[in-house]
Amino acid sequence: MAGILFIISAPSGSGQSTLVSELRKQISGVDFAISWTTRPPRGSEANGREYNFTSRDEFQRMLDEGVFLEHAEVFGNYYGTARESLEEARAAGHDLVLDIDVQGAAQVRAKMLEAVSIFVLPPNPRVLRTRLRNRSRAEGVVNEEEVYRRLNAARMEIENYREYGYILVNDVLDRAVAQLEAIVLAERFYRNGEVIAYRSRRVLEVAAACLQSNSQERLKPVLEAFGILESTDQQQLSFDEDPDPEDSEQEDSGEDNEESNDD
Ligand code: ADP
Ligand code: 5GP
Repeated sequence: MAGILFIISAPSGSGQSTLVSELRKQISGVDFAISWTTRPPRGSEANGREYNFTSRDEFQRMLDEGVFLEHAEVFGNYYGTARESLEEARAAGHDLVLDIDVQGAAQVRAKMLEAVSIFVLPPNPRVLRTRLRNRSRAEGVVNEEEVYRRLNAARMEIENYREYGYILVNDVLDRAVAQLEAIVLAERFYRNGEVIAYRSRRVLEVAAACLQSNSQERLKPVLEAFGILESTDQQQLSFDEDPDPEDSEQEDSGEDNEESNDD
């Protein structure tokens, strides 16, 4: 049976890698394309596990040889998906998940109209900032410049949400994982006629609610918070306001000291 190609994009720090790794624990028959990148490994990342890490020269050589299905420059580094990942998944009859940025997603969609695309959003800029900082902390040092660089890019990336078939707001992790799983199962059901055990009806409902066309209500507060939609009933949130309930450790940075923890 033909595998399905899933493209997942999100502003950096939204939780896309976390969601994909949870999905892999829940569902079999899904391969994950390990991208090539010229950025150095972060924290506990290992070569060949999260990414294939390489030099710029080597990346360029691979690019010239036509190794990549898509590639893009993101935050000053190059990232690319090897065609081989797709070929291997196809040969095994597996689905394939690509965790790629909005530029790469546009390239893949142009070549493969049948791809299923999912855009993951953080609930608001404060939560995104907290997640970027928490991840940085877990890796050892909070690089504020890098955090703000990614925050500033988030709004532009989010404006691409219309290009995606499904929308996930990664607020409560378990719920977002269940929604992602439902999307995969529903697509298998519709495209391949695969049976979805006893939960089928509920799974199809959950997936349908995540279709972009059914996501306007969930999207509105997120778009307002990022200043993409003009806010009607709430003040637009800036990065510097109010504490974020997810912010577990605020003493590491001077700026965070002014915030109190709501939890
Ligand atoms: P991305 O792959 O989108 O750049 P990560 O998956 O690395 O983002 O997640 C960024 C940080 O946010 C990590 O520290 C992760 O543990 C945390 N995180 C992800 N999803 C959630 C969530 N729903 N609630 C709280 N923290 C989350
Ligand atoms: P990070 O460096 O935080 O892991 O990833 C930064 C961005 O690069 C994320 O938006 C991620 O989805 C994207 N990315 C990771 N791998 C690829 C890839 O192979 N191709 C493209 N186009 N983007 C990628």
